Amino acid sequence: MKKAIKTVLVINSGSSSLKYQVFDMVKGERIAKGLVERIGCGGPKDHTAALDQVVADLGELAKGIDAIGHRVLHGAEVFKDSVKATAANMKKLEKLVKFGPLHMPANLGGIKACEKIFKGVPNVAVFDTAFHQTMPDCAAMYAIDPKYYKKMGIRKYGFHGTSHKFITAAAAAFLKKPIDKVNLVTCHMGNGSSLAAVKNGQCVDTTMGLTPLAGMVMGTRCGDIDAAAVLSIMEAEKLTPAEADTLLNKKSGLLALTGSSDCRDIVGKAEKGNKQAELALEMLAYRTALYIGGYNTVIGGADAIIMTGGIGENSSEVRERIINRLGALGIKLDKKANQKRGQVVVLSTKDSKIPVIAIPTNEELAIAQDTVRVLAQ
Ligand code: AMP
Repeated sequence: MKKAIKTVLVINSGSSSLKYQVFDMVKGERIAKGLVERIGCGGPKDHTAALDQVVADLGELAKGIDAIGHRVLHGAEVFKDSVKATAANMKKLEKLVKFGPLHMPANLGGIKACEKIFKGVPNVAVFDTAFHQTMPDCAAMYAIDPKYYKKMGIRKYGFHGTSHKFITAAAAAFLKKPIDKVNLVTCHMGNGSSLAAVKNGQCVDTTMGLTPLAGMVMGTRCGDIDAAAVLSIMEAEKLTPAEADTLLNKKSGLLALTGSSDCRDIVGKAEKGNKQAELALEMLAYRTALYIGGYNTVIGGADAIIMTGGIGENSSEVRERIINRLGALGIKLDKKANQKRGQVVVLSTKDSKIPVIAIPTNEELAIAQDTVRVLAQ
């Protein structure tokens, strides 16, 4: 008989930091959380040393870990669901490092360190891309020579899948609909942002692409842009591909437009009459409304539009700007409800044709739940 899984450690291992949370799965509660920083640059020398620190921080709790769930950036087309980190799967994962040269080595380093330190405890890989692997080709393929897909796997994969999946399940429960009958536009809006079109509980399109750079206007990423604009800038500024990558991923978006990547600062600036801040918020709201309209068409009419992430759960100002652009869908803002933050709340009026609902996401709990589900199979 399989051992019942009660305590799950969730690891989000980045290139220089490692975040962790521990869940009591019987109660469905978080019982510990922490962060190890500066891995390989002044702090612990590698991920194994970082995990030694986690074990020390957890004390007695470390001895009771039954399973470990790992956030892994990219499963490409190989992993359409979370999997046990068996030797065979780790071999397949090593081949996917090219899809996330910055994140994947750190993600896999976290798994390997756990295998060493938590001997005999099963590890599960939970992918940011998995939920989106049901996208049809018409949504996933780029209009370029198919040889780039065949040779290099260039296509849309999508990210934030764990969050989109979690809020899809939460929305179905809230709407009292079976998950395989629910149609949603899910909006994960935080420092990184993506929307997903969900038909019958499955993803049929999403705004991020081969990498998390595509789609929405984000904290430091530009989102959708004419590829020729990038080529022009590279040529004019004599940028290498790596420099262009940094420009578009780390020095663009809200940061480039306003000097801050944080929505709260930008709302504050806009309230004081700062024109760039006002423009940035309108660009953000416009692009979100544009995608919501498109995705509503793609799924044949949404049962609800869901907002989540730091901005979706909390920013009344941004939500108002988005919802005010959805009049053509018969949606009106409930101004009073929109003042509520960090909780499940219907943001649209009762007579709106499609409800807009804020639902807090919990990616770590979702990883813990998936870990239990995969190990029970
Ligand atoms: P995340 O990446 O999900 O943590 O979201 C970060 C974004 O959420 C930032 O742009 C924050 O400004 C925004 N945010 C977080 N809390 C609030 C809040 N209470 N009000 C408005 N925006 C918030």
